[in-house]
Amino acid sequence: MTQTSLPGLFGPIFTLFLVVLGLCVGSFLNVVIARVPAGQSIVHPRSRCPRCGHELSWYENIPLVSWLALRARCRGCKTPISARYPLVELLTGLLYFACLRRFDWTYELVPALVLVSLLVPLTFIDLDHWILPLSMTVSGTLVGLVLAVPRGMDFFRDAALGAAVGFLTFRLMEYVGWKVFKKEALGAGDKYLVAMLCAFLTWRALLGILLFASMQGAVVGILMLLATGRAGPRTEGVPEEEPEGEPPPLTMTWDFTRPGLPLWKRLVLVPFCLLFQPIPDAPLDEEGQEEDWVPDRTSIPFGPWLALAGLELLLLSPWLARVLPADIALMLTGLA
Ligand SMILES: [Zn+2]
Repeated sequence: MTQTSLPGLFGPIFTLFLVVLGLCVGSFLNVVIARVPAGQSIVHPRSRCPRCGHELSWYENIPLVSWLALRARCRGCKTPISARYPLVELLTGLLYFACLRRFDWTYELVPALVLVSLLVPLTFIDLDHWILPLSMTVSGTLVGLVLAVPRGMDFFRDAALGAAVGFLTFRLMEYVGWKVFKKEALGAGDKYLVAMLCAFLTWRALLGILLFASMQGAVVGILMLLATGRAGPRTEGVPEEEPEGEPPPLTMTWDFTRPGLPLWKRLVLVPFCLLFQPIPDAPLDEEGQEEDWVPDRTSIPFGPWLALAGLELLLLSPWLARVLPADIALMLTGLA
């Protein structure tokens, strides 16, 4: 990688431009966070106040500035506007700046900015709804692979291998977790997010992503459970009471461990079950329909922790390689 710092005044001007671009992208990501889970278009119609329908004009839509100028209230009905809108904008701007510090004006900056712009909305959507939309993770994986091509054949191979190995690792963890604990241990969308992260960061980051995400998720989850009685956020409109008694067991249509199967059928079913058997994410009711899954007190959404681990590996790998013992750094970051 060649460092190409810009001379004189151009440096600060281009840096400022990139941060402002980050703020504007963050403003758009707020729209993505609100509309993608609801299946609405992210281009039409113009942004409105969810309360009174007041349509936002361009000067009410300037990142950070408008929120401050409007004193966090809608101009139509004076309903308070959540501080999360400017926070998402600020976060995206700061992450764009961090990417520039890490990669300077090199080609590597492009995939880094794209990855940040995918991880920010995925994180907030998972916190709000406990889902990771496939429309974002699957297309994100493809974009990651396309952006890997200019970085050379070796990098592209590592990225494609990463997407496949990351997906299969999580798929197997999901399956084994389901067989052992008889309940959904991992969100169904997590495996696609890991595939996406590894399409950008290659298979070399997989172990680091797994370790950082689960360690940080476990520590914060336990602290939150002790402090607030919940390890993860609530979902809107979900009653707080715990369901009474034992939940009904989950059932699968194909199962190679089912008693009474002839050996050959069992053997044929093993790879099929491991790779393709859909895992119901909720117990089935009497009609065989999935009941709405409700996160219990100890559930944590894993997506935000995967996203955080991905960002840490994207931005901090050289630093980790300096401070960690060489072989551990190589294992976690892929950098010697
Ligand atoms: Zn309003």
